[in-house]
Amino acid sequence: MDNLLPAKPCRVVDSQVHGPPTGVAFARCNGYDSGVLSAALDRVLAPLGGMTAFVRSGCRVLVKPNLLTDRPPEAAVTTHPELVRQVIRRLKAAGAVVVVADSPAFVTQVEQVWRVTGMQAVCAEEGVPLLCMEAAPLTTLSHDGYTFSVSNLALNADLIVNLPKVKSHSLTVLTAAVKNFYGVIPGHLKTELHKTHARPERFGGLVRAICRAMPTSLTIADGVLAMEGDGPSSGTPVPLNFLAASADPFALDLALCDVLRIDPEQVPYLVGLSHTPDYTARVRYGECPDVARFRLPRNTSRLVLNLLPDWLVRRIGKLIWFRPAFGSACVRCGKCVTACPVHAIALRPRGVPILNGPACIGCCCCHEVCPAHVITIRPSPIVRLERRVARAFAMPTQDDA
Ligand code: SF4
Ligand code: SF4
Repeated sequence: MDNLLPAKPCRVVDSQVHGPPTGVAFARCNGYDSGVLSAALDRVLAPLGGMTAFVRSGCRVLVKPNLLTDRPPEAAVTTHPELVRQVIRRLKAAGAVVVVADSPAFVTQVEQVWRVTGMQAVCAEEGVPLLCMEAAPLTTLSHDGYTFSVSNLALNADLIVNLPKVKSHSLTVLTAAVKNFYGVIPGHLKTELHKTHARPERFGGLVRAICRAMPTSLTIADGVLAMEGDGPSSGTPVPLNFLAASADPFALDLALCDVLRIDPEQVPYLVGLSHTPDYTARVRYGECPDVARFRLPRNTSRLVLNLLPDWLVRRIGKLIWFRPAFGSACVRCGKCVTACPVHAIALRPRGVPILNGPACIGCCCCHEVCPAHVITIRPSPIVRLERRVARAFAMPTQDDA
C-alpha cells in the first residue's frame, strides 16, 4: 500500500528554509475556528519561509497527526482535525501528493479512531487517503544502537509534516514533536519495543533514534488546546492558545520545554541535548507564549533518586516502579488487557482487572487506551518516600513544575 505515494523523487532544498534549521516559530491562536487557525498557520510558517519552502509540485508528503485513541477533538488527546485540514489545503495548493496516516494505540478499532477524532470526515472532505501505518510494508533500521521496524509510508515520503498535540506524558513527561514519530512504528511492534526498552532512559534513546531515522520533516505542534496533568490520555485539556513550528523536532521540543517550564533533563528523549552546540543558541520567531503554569503528571518525579549513584539505583531498582491502579468505574471493556505488551493484566469474572505487579514494565499503554479514564499510574513506596524527602528539604519535584 506504500505505493499509494507515487514514486516521483522530490527533495526539499534546505536553502529555501529561512533562518537556521533549528529555529522555532510561534503564533498565537485562540481557537479552532477555521479563519483564526488559517491566519495563525500562515503566521507560524512565515518565519520558516512558508509551506512552499518545504514542498514542491509532486512531493510525496505524509501528514502524521497524533491519533492516539478514539477520543473527540475537545478531549485534547489527538491533533485537532481543523489543523489537519488547513495543512492539507496548503500542501495541495503547493502541488504535493498527500497521505494522512498514523498507528493508533488500539489498532483493532482503527475505524472508530478515525471517526471519533474527526479525521475521517476531514480526509474525506479534502479528498486525501487516511491510512494506518500497518497498511504499508515495513523496513527494519538500526540507528544509535537501536533496531526497529518502521512503516514505508513514513520512510518513502519526501517530507513528513508532523502534527503533534502538546501534552504531558506519564512516561516521558512531555510528548510533542519527537515522540509523535513513535507512531511510525506499527502498533503491535510498538508494544514489543516498550517491553524491550522498558526503562525511561532506554525508551527515550529509542524515541530519539526513531526520530533521527526519519526523512526531512516539518513539525507544526497543536498547542491551541493542550493537555496537562496525567497525559497523554487522562490529563486535563488546557487552552495554551499557540501553534509552534520548526524544521527540527528536537529544537521544537526544547523550545516547548522553555515555554512550559519543563527541565529538558527530565524528558528522557531530550537528556543532554540542550548543551550540545546545535541547541545552545535557541532561535525563536513570532509570538512566543507566556505559560505561567503547566501541570505535569503526578508520577514522574525521580529527582532525589537521580542524586544517588548508579550502583545504588541498580541495587534498589526492583523497588522503583510505576504501576497502574484500576478505579471502580471500570467498564470492563478489556482494552487494557489487550494493550499490555507483557500480559500483566487479566479480567476477573467481577470487579476491576487484576495486575501481575512484578510483570508490569510501567509502559503506560493500559493508561493510554482506557476509555473510562479509571487507570492511574501509581508510584512504589520507595518513590513516595523519595517525594517526602524532596518536600522535607524543599527540593522541587515534577509536581511543582
Ligand atoms: S500493566 Fe500497564 S503499565 Fe504495566 S506493562 Fe502492562 S500496559 Fe504497561
Ligand atoms: S480499566 Fe479501563 S481499559 Fe481496563 S477494562 Fe476497565 S475500563 Fe477497560
